[in-house]
Amino acid sequence: MNPASFAAIAASLAGYDPQALRVELAQQFIAELLPLPQQSETVGLRAALGRVLAADIISPLQVPAHDNSAMDGYALRASDLAIDGETRLRLAGTSLAGGAVSGSVANGQCQRIMTGALMPAGLDTVVPQEFTRLDGEYVVIPPGILRTGDNRRLAGEDLALGSVALAAGRVLRPADLGLLASLGLAEVPVWRRLKVAIMSTGDELRGVGEPLPPGCVYDSNRYTMWAMLERLGLEVIDLGIVRDQPEALREALMRAAALADAVISSGGVSVGEADHTKRVMAELGEVLFWRIAMRPGRPMAIGRIRSGEKTALLFGLPGNPVAVMVTFYAFVREALLRMSGARPEPLPLLRAASTRALRKKAGRTEYQRGVVKRGAGGQWQVDITGNQGSGILSSMSQANGLVLLGHQQGDVAVGDLVDVVPFDGLI
Ligand code: AMP
Ligand code: MG
Repeated sequence: MNPASFAAIAASLAGYDPQALRVELAQQFIAELLPLPQQSETVGLRAALGRVLAADIISPLQVPAHDNSAMDGYALRASDLAIDGETRLRLAGTSLAGGAVSGSVANGQCQRIMTGALMPAGLDTVVPQEFTRLDGEYVVIPPGILRTGDNRRLAGEDLALGSVALAAGRVLRPADLGLLASLGLAEVPVWRRLKVAIMSTGDELRGVGEPLPPGCVYDSNRYTMWAMLERLGLEVIDLGIVRDQPEALREALMRAAALADAVISSGGVSVGEADHTKRVMAELGEVLFWRIAMRPGRPMAIGRIRSGEKTALLFGLPGNPVAVMVTFYAFVREALLRMSGARPEPLPLLRAASTRALRKKAGRTEYQRGVVKRGAGGQWQVDITGNQGSGILSSMSQANGLVLLGHQQGDVAVGDLVDVVPFDGLI
């Protein structure tokens, strides 16, 4: 692969301004940098949960394999049903789930059948047991309750032989595991798990469990970064806290580039910082320092850094704890999913009424933290979680969604509808 140079990508993006970069342009720029996965492996079904499918799964059989009953009841011919008045059909035998097809059933007869049992040849409809009454050897069916084909499952109605049951790029979820099992597949090809190295930079940082001298803060970013990456199912390489010293930074970044597909650092990329992160990053490869038109999270570095022949994508995130999370979700999440071979769809947004007036300047994208809940009338409403400073991690912890205020959006009045990305989903 011969990747496009940063200058070429920048030139292809209308309105590219590294000092006030629109969120959408930064996302488009990053999308141009992403290598696709090269190595796949075969894993057992359970180990495949959350992994990315490396090839289309072509159905090797039809599911269900044969026509069968969707109900416990009696299989019959719809043509035997009386137009009006009760129908009386003679009971000819029983079909159990897992049993073979029984002998033929004559006109005017029916067969007792269990859910999942094969439909006897010539019979096309099942009447549920609870609608019937037995009268000696006869099953009595009231009029007007059945149409041809009711309660019969057709062979191949779930999956047709030779069809694409699951497409490459799919992140496997519980239903997919079941689907693969229904095809009799014990293993599937998945892309190798992406390796992501993380590090926190800053002389003021201390690790949990250590004493906290005046002027220092505990390193929380490595925990949020680790957790966000774990949730994406990626392999995390934790390179710890790196001091603001050129040698230490160079060594850590080179190690990261050698070990990982992508490197995420926090801190040291803001303007006027007395740290050396920017200079050292720039020495190790092709790196851009952006000021993004967003809040929180203005400064960010993006680059390719090298260690010998190997290149890794670098995301230099800001140091502020909320900014780390917001820039991760705005730029890093989808990039890493694509590098993992996934083809993510845009996340569904909720439209919720703001319970407060929000000040918002047009000309930047804002990600406010909010609590979404149902209002008295059943409509969704969102309440911003207090102080929105980029260091206020409790605002993120209390929230259950990010309120997205787009680039052009101005002030929000009480009751205005805003877009919210919910944190939690069903699956
Ligand atoms: P920086 O981007 O390095 O200028 O850092 C901005 C702010 O975020 C400063 O107040 C730092 O102390 C804080 N900060 C940087 N890294 C971390 C970290 N790993 N954990 C918690 N706070 C951090
Ligand atoms: Mg710093």
